[in-house]
Amino acid sequence: MSGILYIVSTPIGNLEDMTLRSLRVLKEVDLIAAEDTRRSRKLLTHFDIKTPMISYWGAKEKVKAEEVLAHLLNDKDVALISDAGTPGISDPGSVLVRRALEKAMNVMPVPGPSAMIAALSISGLPTESFTFIGFLPPKASQRRKFLSELAIKRETLIFYEAPHRVMDTLVDMESIFGADRKAVVARELTKLHEEILRGTISSVIDQLDNSTVAGEFVVVIEGRTKSEPVSEDEALAEMKTLMQTGVSRKDAARKISSTYGLSKKRLYDRSLE
Ligand code: SAM
Repeated sequence: MSGILYIVSTPIGNLEDMTLRSLRVLKEVDLIAAEDTRRSRKLLTHFDIKTPMISYWGAKEKVKAEEVLAHLLNDKDVALISDAGTPGISDPGSVLVRRALEKAMNVMPVPGPSAMIAALSISGLPTESFTFIGFLPPKASQRRKFLSELAIKRETLIFYEAPHRVMDTLVDMESIFGADRKAVVARELTKLHEEILRGTISSVIDQLDNSTVAGEFVVVIEGRTKSEPVSEDEALAEMKTLMQTGVSRKDAARKISSTYGLSKKRLYDRSLE
C-alpha cells in the first residue's frame, strides 16, 4: 500500500481563500511537500498547521519527486503545495504527479485558487474555449515568434507575466495581434491593491503607463475575431498543427479551408511543399 498524494491549492494573495478542505488535508497528511518551505511556513503558521514539511524545490524537481515518491511508497500521505495557487500550473508539481501515476498511486486534487482562472472569470472575454500559455519566453525575439504563432488562435489567450516585462509584452502583442484586440490586465488579484484594466490592447497599454508597474500580473487577450483576415501562411500553420494531432491531411485541408474561406486544393498542395 502506498500513501495518497494530494495536490493542494493555496491562496494567491488573500488568506480567506484557503478552503476548509485544504486546511483539513494539510492538517491530516503525514507530510507537506512545499515549493519554498520558508514561504509556506508563514501560511501554515497562520492556520496553526503543524504538519512536518519537506522541500519540493522546482529547480530540483526530478530529484525531489523521487524523494516524495519514497515517502508515498512508505505509506505516508503527502500534500504538495506551491508558493501560491495551484501546484503544477506554472509551478512545480507535474513531474511528481506523473511519477506517482506511473506507480499507480492515488493522486487527489484539493482544488482552490489559481490566478489564471480568477483572471479569466472576471475578464468578460469568451470562456467557452481558452488557451493557457503561462509565461512567455523571456528573450524578446523568442517571445515575438511565439506570439506570432498564437496570432491565429480564435480562443481566449491567458498569459502570466513578470512586472518588469509586462509592458514590453503588451507592446509586442499590440504589433502582432493588432491594437484593437480586447485585453484585460489583472494585477494583484485578491490582494489589497487589486486592479483590473480593460479595453483594447493599446488602451490597456495607455492605462498601464500611468500606473506603477509592480505586482503580479495575468494578461488575458481576446482570440482572433472573424473580421481579422487570415493569410494563407497562417492557415497552413494551423493546418499543420491540426495534422500533428493525428488529423489526416485531407481532413485538415477541408476543415481549415472552410473555416477561413480558402481553397482546399491550394492548402492541400502547399502543405506538401
Ligand atoms: N500556480 C500559480 C497559479 O495557480 O496561479 C501560478 C504560479 S506562477 C509561478 C506566478 C504567476 O502567476 C505570477 O507571476 C503572475 O503572473 C500570476 N499570479 C499569481 N498570483 C497572482 C495574483 N494575485 N494576481 C495576478 N497574477 C498572479
